[in-house]
Amino acid sequence: MVDLARGYSRSGAGSPEVKQTLPLAVGAAILALLFFRRRAPRRWTYGSKLPGIASSSAGGGELNRDPAMLLPSFADTVEVLFQRLRARGFDPVLNEGYRSPERGAHLKSLGYSQTGDRSLHVYGAAVDIISAAGGWQGSEDLWQAMGPIAEDLGLVWGGRWSFYDPAHLQAVAVSEQSKLRSSSEPDELASSSMSSRVREVILV
Ligand SMILES: [Zn+2]
Repeated sequence: MVDLARGYSRSGAGSPEVKQTLPLAVGAAILALLFFRRRAPRRWTYGSKLPGIASSSAGGGELNRDPAMLLPSFADTVEVLFQRLRARGFDPVLNEGYRSPERGAHLKSLGYSQTGDRSLHVYGAAVDIISAAGGWQGSEDLWQAMGPIAEDLGLVWGGRWSFYDPAHLQAVAVSEQSKLRSSSEPDELASSSMSSRVREVILV
């Protein structure tokens, strides 16, 4: 809508035609937004799995996109990843970060998660990233670019797993998951599992 308004001001905001057409255009834009909002849950499906769950709050807790709920060292690394992806023309968004144990168990019951309430999402040590424009169905290019960059930053990418989960990144390797779950200092563990190069990137 900002761009729309700008477009109109460029073409002469004071003219009578603009005054007549602007409300129509704004109305059309609002209708379009409402339409796409209603449709959004259907687009955010994952392959042949049940529609809607990834953007739904149904069953065991809200979808959480707050980076402040992630382990700080992990959130910093994800931020660097976002900057690198944006520099390459991608439009990453955090679809899900922290996840309640109830929601984790619910997703497992639907086949979305293998680890359920023991997922690293529950520990603030995992994120799911998709393209803002592409959604779940149109993020393959983003994921293929994201995987190597994320690994270069010391993150673990679900695109390498047999349970193919290319949107998923986590702070530590699968072999380290149980250590992180039981750690009293999970952020330190996550931080130490990142490469020294990553820490340099983040600390500058
Ligand atoms: Zn995930």
